[in-house]
Amino acid sequence: MNPEAGNPESANREPRTAKRESVRIRQRVIDAMIDHARRDAPLECCGLLAARDGIIDEPIPARNLEASPVVFLIDPRDHFAALKRARTEGREIVGAYHSHPRSPAIPSATDLAEAHYEEFLYVIVSLATDLPDVRAHGLVSGLGFEELGFEIVD
Ligand SMILES: [Zn+2]
Repeated sequence: MNPEAGNPESANREPRTAKRESVRIRQRVIDAMIDHARRDAPLECCGLLAARDGIIDEPIPARNLEASPVVFLIDPRDHFAALKRARTEGREIVGAYHSHPRSPAIPSATDLAEAHYEEFLYVIVSLATDLPDVRAHGLVSGLGFEELGFEIVD
């Protein structure tokens, strides 16, 4: 399921700890993820994140096969369709997002157990506070998740 598996460029990447870059994203993507989270609450929503030229410019909603308020499972058919569409559009799927309707935007133990892709971004939208909180996390081998900052690009 890892879209970047086998990518020869991976071998040239610097060690993960040496590249703490912020995540470049358009404001409308953040707004759309929050809308999706609110629509599906109290269940968790989920989706993929498509980027062009290193900027996340579209959230692609997916079905949560778990239909649960505390866990999610992206429907593999939606994941595949998103990959296919992104490729035809010259974009790439760089991460996934899901919501935490009643807990902070911090990965749960389950999120960690299910996360396997170091090149992937894991974005969480929390509705637990008055203002929604959106945070991005990267997976660091042997260390778990590390929070990344957002750089909003118009
Ligand atoms: Zn979660």
